[in-house]
Amino acid sequence: MLKEELDLRTLDDDTISEDCSRTSDAAEAWWFLFIAGDMIVMERGGVISVPLAANPTALGLQGGREWHLGTLDGHRCYGAEIGINMPIPDGMAAWGLRDLYEHLDKSHHRIAMKASHMIEWDRTTGFCSRCGTETRRAEGVVAKECPACGFLMFPRLSPAVIVLIERDNKLLLARARRFKADVYSVLAGFVEPGETLEETVRREIEEEVGIRVKNIRYFGSQPWPFPDSLMIGFTAEYESGEIRIEEEEIVDAGWFEPDSLPNIPGKISIARQLIDWFIEGKSKGASKTPL
Ligand SMILES: [Zn+2]
Repeated sequence: MLKEELDLRTLDDDTISEDCSRTSDAAEAWWFLFIAGDMIVMERGGVISVPLAANPTALGLQGGREWHLGTLDGHRCYGAEIGINMPIPDGMAAWGLRDLYEHLDKSHHRIAMKASHMIEWDRTTGFCSRCGTETRRAEGVVAKECPACGFLMFPRLSPAVIVLIERDNKLLLARARRFKADVYSVLAGFVEPGETLEETVRREIEEEVGIRVKNIRYFGSQPWPFPDSLMIGFTAEYESGEIRIEEEEIVDAGWFEPDSLPNIPGKISIARQLIDWFIEGKSKGASKTPL
């Protein structure tokens, strides 16, 4: 098992507890504070950390859209948004979530991702999407409700499949138009209403690169709050067809040997975990089984 996968897979309910039974009586909490989409962290002596404080005011900040996210190490965790014009105090800085991945403890980063998702959802559900009335928080459930018509809006999750395709010890990588220049990755696409995940895998691959696959197997999943996805990873084997790229979305695609890969995504992503898992299996020469 790769280290990154281990980190994701061992973060169980005991690590991030939704109940408060293990909350210490210390009033300090972990604060996952966002300003203009970036997270505010402590920067002291070259060490990056999540602020631990009674409230944002104690840090010299003022927050809104506050959500309780669970409990970690005996402290409650909260996400909140800071006004875009508020100055960031000395000793603190705003970082992008992707950049923070290498600097934060994995459990802190997981909660930071959740905080980002919740704040963005809160921001975009201020009014009922059925009747236009201003919403409020529902009681006893994580949702916003409309006081006029009773409509409930739950946090939005947009599931997407991501697939590593193997053919004769090579893997298929593609450069999407939305990627930074020169980065190649495995294929991904959103699930459409009425589809099973396996149907999404077949449809996306056929649409984007014109090939058919077989032996679709579940690999793992990853919350991906940019802004609200859940990535569901699969492996698959080539069955038939030749690569024919869908030019609106894909710039280039091809089969790559494990020892001659182009630039690939960073370690934060399940795309990279899929690629690393494939490479590791090939370097060991062992038969691979999804974890
Ligand atoms: Zn309404």
